[in-house]
Amino acid sequence: MAALLHLTQMIGGAAHAGDAAASLPVHEPVTGEAFATCPAGTQDDVDAAVRAAQQAFPAWSSLSGEERAGWLHRLANAVNEHAEELVHAESRDAGKPLKLAREVEIPRAAQNLRFFAAAASQFASESHHGTAGLNYTLRAPLGVVGCISPWNLPLYLFTWKIAPALAAGNCVVAKPSEITPVTAWMLGELAREINFPAGVLNIVHGLGPVVGKALVEHPGIKAVSFTGSTAVGRQIAAHCGPALKKTSLELGGKNATVVFADVFKDSARRERLLDTVVRAAFQNSGQICLCGSRILIERSVYADFRDAFLARVRALRTGDPLDPSSNLGPLVSRAHFDKVLACIALARDEGGHVLCGGEALSLEGRCAGGWFIAPTVIDGLGPDCRSNTEEIFGPVVTLQAFDDDAHALALANATPYGLSASVWTQQLERAHRIAAGLLCGIVWINTWLLRDLRTPFGGVGQSGLGREGGMEAMRFFTEPKNICIQLD
Ligand code: NAD
Repeated sequence: MAALLHLTQMIGGAAHAGDAAASLPVHEPVTGEAFATCPAGTQDDVDAAVRAAQQAFPAWSSLSGEERAGWLHRLANAVNEHAEELVHAESRDAGKPLKLAREVEIPRAAQNLRFFAAAASQFASESHHGTAGLNYTLRAPLGVVGCISPWNLPLYLFTWKIAPALAAGNCVVAKPSEITPVTAWMLGELAREINFPAGVLNIVHGLGPVVGKALVEHPGIKAVSFTGSTAVGRQIAAHCGPALKKTSLELGGKNATVVFADVFKDSARRERLLDTVVRAAFQNSGQICLCGSRILIERSVYADFRDAFLARVRALRTGDPLDPSSNLGPLVSRAHFDKVLACIALARDEGGHVLCGGEALSLEGRCAGGWFIAPTVIDGLGPDCRSNTEEIFGPVVTLQAFDDDAHALALANATPYGLSASVWTQQLERAHRIAAGLLCGIVWINTWLLRDLRTPFGGVGQSGLGREGGMEAMRFFTEPKNICIQLD
């Protein structure tokens, strides 16, 4: 058996092993075996990281935007130079197909760093000239900020948070998920190799209710940027509200894919529609907050769409993420695997018909102990049942038929979440009308997960508070100050 990889904390530019006896096992979802250990950080680690960040803040915040951009570009270069190691680590830690890590997630991590490097040099603030004199706005970094990220897109989301925080001149204490901590640790090691200024980026590993909570509640933390579950987001809001601490909360989703008959009937469009709806449903085994897990279909094409969709889903291969022919890997953890199976059981209890999948898969060889679930499609459930209102976050989708635009909107909006939606029609006015009527933060028309990093990203309702992306993130990580000059 290969030796375990031992991760370390990165505090003040140094690696700290922590108490080996109290370290947390990191499991490989494909085998169910531990392959690494992660330090179980403590309040003391968070205190030390905040102190290191406070010491680094005056020098880092005094650098010009171009100088900070230079450091982010150097970190992005290091990610690119070590991309293949990061791809393998991400695939192993999260159980995601190698292809997905190689083609999407690790390149995007480097892109996040470069995008916000550009933002550091191009960030500007407003000025207003009028009867109330000349006003301009200064935007200063906040100080030390906390960034907490989840397990589903580990390095992609970790960099999406730390990059704007650093670009805007803040120092960061970041906490990756204890379930998938490896690539964040590797990024910390790369930062140390390129002599990234000590204390500017600190990475503290450990359990959410210990390290995450200590970070959120630390009086030295001026703002919290969190991506994760709605339940934890609510706890963070409950602390940060009374403490008057700035928060950005990117939470769960239960997104609708709305398919109008015209696209399905158009043979030139049908393939792309079906391919994209399948990808939106099952990419990363459905473990993406933006996945389209409720597919709404215009009734006139419901049966034909269902059959064509099912044929594609049955052709998906669930298997070893290292095998290039695998479309889906395992679920990320034993606990999550159990949760998703319980959701499928609940859907059956609620009267749902499982049209395909619906069970755990026992694979052979090195995958024998892995947490695999077959891609699952369910119909026969109404909009109000738990299967259609609560986030499952696995390879499970439901189908529902709608009669007209108003019905489509009523079904799409029938959840407390409001992150994203994907609408499929070639009728221009209808597309805009539906997009305007959807209660969510992001609407894709005839596509899914096409991202321009300059756009506002986030949700409404139980999907969160605030927006990330582009200048929204730069504004979140800075405090505006109005300067007013009377001109007479
Ligand atoms: P989670 O809420 O369990 O954990 C997220 C992070 O918060 C982890 O680092 C965890 O250690 C930490 N944490 C846990 N308890 C904490 C506490 N009490 N205080 C502070 N930090 C704490 O979420 P998860 O299971 O890792 O991720 C899946 C969830 O994330 C899904 O609901 C998904 O929809 C959501 N998500 C949302 C977005 C988005 O952009 N809206 C993106 C990805 C994932």
